[in-house]
Amino acid sequence: MDNPTTPTDPRIATLLAEPHRPDGGIDAAVPPIVQTSLFTFADYVAFEARMSGQSDSPIYTRVQNPTVAAFEDLMARAERAEAAIGFASGMAAISATLLSLLRPGDRLACVTHVYSDAFRLMETHLRPFGIEISYHDPCAFADDPELLSGVQLAYLESPGSMMMRMMDLPRIARHARRHGTITVIDNTWATPVLQQPITHGIDVSLHSASKYIGGHSDTVAGVVCTSAEIAARIRSHALTLFGAKLAPFEAFLLTRGLRSLDARMRQHQRSAAQFVAGLETRPEVTAIHAPGPAPEMGLNGRSGLLSIELREAVDIPRFADALKLFRLGVSWGGFESLILPAGVGLAQAADPNPMRHFGVPPRLVRLSLGLEDPDDLWRDFCAALDAART
Ligand code: PLP
Repeated sequence: MDNPTTPTDPRIATLLAEPHRPDGGIDAAVPPIVQTSLFTFADYVAFEARMSGQSDSPIYTRVQNPTVAAFEDLMARAERAEAAIGFASGMAAISATLLSLLRPGDRLACVTHVYSDAFRLMETHLRPFGIEISYHDPCAFADDPELLSGVQLAYLESPGSMMMRMMDLPRIARHARRHGTITVIDNTWATPVLQQPITHGIDVSLHSASKYIGGHSDTVAGVVCTSAEIAARIRSHALTLFGAKLAPFEAFLLTRGLRSLDARMRQHQRSAAQFVAGLETRPEVTAIHAPGPAPEMGLNGRSGLLSIELREAVDIPRFADALKLFRLGVSWGGFESLILPAGVGLAQAADPNPMRHFGVPPRLVRLSLGLEDPDDLWRDFCAALDAART
């Protein structure tokens, strides 16, 4: 414990529990859902003053809304960012960021094993717009100090969400600063509880808030956390012109999710540590991809998302069907445990298929450990493995 008289920044659990600060009107402890498309003005002078930028009160919910702003404010504080912008989905956050910050002729360096739809966005939309794209192993960004020479934007994901590869954020940020490259990271796996990329010099930390931030598998949303200057560029392009705004009701759910994020991540972490220890004793498991704490790289713990590779002797479809507590599904970060066998992703018809492109092993199975009791989950997992041995 710190000496209670030593002033320190509040820990993240304390930040996330900070009461809502109402800006007038009723003193609601929770941000009210301001379900309106527009805000009106008392008279011509007030309207004109707002339109000429003399005040910043909301005008229209596509660009500003108090319920959304309450979520953005909490999220920015959690990520230690100057600003945050909510979006209708994680993909809206990714596409808005890339389309706002890149111009035809720019170079984009992207990590391999990037989230599949981010890869498809790059290949099917950004490349035809004249953006030159290259893919690099996660280690290359830190190990090769010249990799970002002449690159306008580096797109990172750490840990990744299938192979769970980690990246050394402080070193990458140092190289990027030297080359004038903007760094963008998908921080969905870690959340600000486990990793605060901006404190390591990364410029933009974005999330699929549909995962741990929402935390209850009932919301699709995204958020971008960054400097005030970059946020202004993204906001004016992406919200004003592309319009992929976060809805007030979704923002309300996300603020509620943030209140319990630290406690939920502690439970996910406990289950993952227990699973990793158990997996190491199972001969059917040939590889475990489960990043642990690596503070020198920026990561301060485990989440509940990990992958394993299984021996030929395990019939993966039979294993999947024998599980009782784990459900089959694509997403993660909710209260419920899920599995995603890579074979299902490899069978996906979409072209280009990033899993094929980046060589995701066909015998990989991704596990998202939910909030169930870890002993029950482990028993279920072992019983299904036993039932699937050929
Ligand atoms: N980033 C990662 C790592 C994801 O797994 C996902 C979705 O699965 C996304 C981004 C996209 O987020 P959304 O589904 O909220 O659009």
